[in-house]
Amino acid sequence: MKKLSIFGATGSIGQNTIDLIARDRDAYQVVALTGGHNVEQLARDAIALNAAVAVTAHDACYPALQAALAGSGVEAAAGQGALVEAADRPADWVMSAIVGAAGLEPGLRALQQGAALALANKESMVCAGPLVMATARAHGGQVLPVDSEHSAVFQALTGEQLDAVERVIITASGGAFRDWTIEQMARATPEQAATHPNWDMGQRITIDSASMFNKALELIETHEFFGIEPAKIETVIHPESLIHALVGFRDGGLMAHVGVPDMRHAIGYALHYPERRALPVERLDLARIGSMTFRPADTERWPALRLAREVMEAGGLAGAAFNAAKERALDAFIDRRIGFLDMARVVEAVLTKLSRERGLIDAEVTLDNVRGVDHLARVTADAVMDTDKRQYEWT
Ligand code: NAD
Ligand code: MG
Repeated sequence: MKKLSIFGATGSIGQNTIDLIARDRDAYQVVALTGGHNVEQLARDAIALNAAVAVTAHDACYPALQAALAGSGVEAAAGQGALVEAADRPADWVMSAIVGAAGLEPGLRALQQGAALALANKESMVCAGPLVMATARAHGGQVLPVDSEHSAVFQALTGEQLDAVERVIITASGGAFRDWTIEQMARATPEQAATHPNWDMGQRITIDSASMFNKALELIETHEFFGIEPAKIETVIHPESLIHALVGFRDGGLMAHVGVPDMRHAIGYALHYPERRALPVERLDLARIGSMTFRPADTERWPALRLAREVMEAGGLAGAAFNAAKERALDAFIDRRIGFLDMARVVEAVLTKLSRERGLIDAEVTLDNVRGVDHLARVTADAVMDTDKRQYEWT
């Protein structure tokens, strides 16, 4: 029986993971499930899967979780400390599906106890790629990509030599506003940005898809995960979201990963790796689809893509600063304190301010340094939005 834990179990990736596990209940022993405010869901899943412990990230949610689990035999726990401790509980496989930089520490702890880490939390790679990979190496663990594009690249690279890779193409749907004018985008609401044309995902990643901050994170994730140089990483708009990524080799061959937009493919691939088992995803009918289209990814329209290149070139802790500034700007957009296009302006302003202190960005990628830069970038983002309030006023 495979022992596993799911961090961020109540979210979109977490629920898709549970869907797969629930279909083959006897094959798994569930150690920990974690969530946030949604304690009813967390308790229901923990009881159904007979988890050893259910953890809510919020101390204030503890009484509700405890009440929901009463008499079930599932232990209740709450708070950041409990979350990290849950990652220390021995497991063979751990799903990292918390959203944001908060997912980093539990993932590192899971690797330290020797688990294979299925990584949906791309922020871990963006903030601390070298640390995540070094931790896996040091403890003989493996990091398995769950982001659909990176799962696609991983699959295309299986059995290949890395030095034969000429380029990696990460596709992007273009998100909610790919056909909007820039003027329309300036007035977009959080509700409009949180509607994805193809994928059904959490609110934050869906808005990040519209702004292309999600793709920006994924370009950095590609660089960190596979060690591919930034100049070899491309992106192209592919509105149908059927090709998830392509790897080009030096002989001119291009290997594409094609499939319906359903995260259960990438999750299932990581769950059963290195085996390929049957998965309940719809099969593509190419004749019915008829055609697939592509267009260039415009960096005027999506400045996040340009910023991602700057972050990859800067290296070090620039990714941690970029991600934290983006998380703060996204909070402000969701709260209607800034407009949609202002998010990239805020992130760029923070990067410009912090990059003046090279020592900061060039410091070693340790958990403490990531935390320090993360905090500084959030404070700087708040200061930028406060000082330039009129510039960033909701339009
Ligand atoms: P979601 O918002 O649906 O779920 C997030 C989960 O994290 C929830 O369980 C929530 O309770 C928990 N959480 C949120 N903040 C937390 C905190 N501070 N501390 C502890 N737990 C916290 O998000 P999602 O769409 O499932 O995405 C999860 C991760 O997977 C993200 O990093 C996202 O970029 C990545 N990802 C998602 C998809 C997708 O299809 N949804 C695809 C690729 C990658
Ligand atoms: Mg993705």
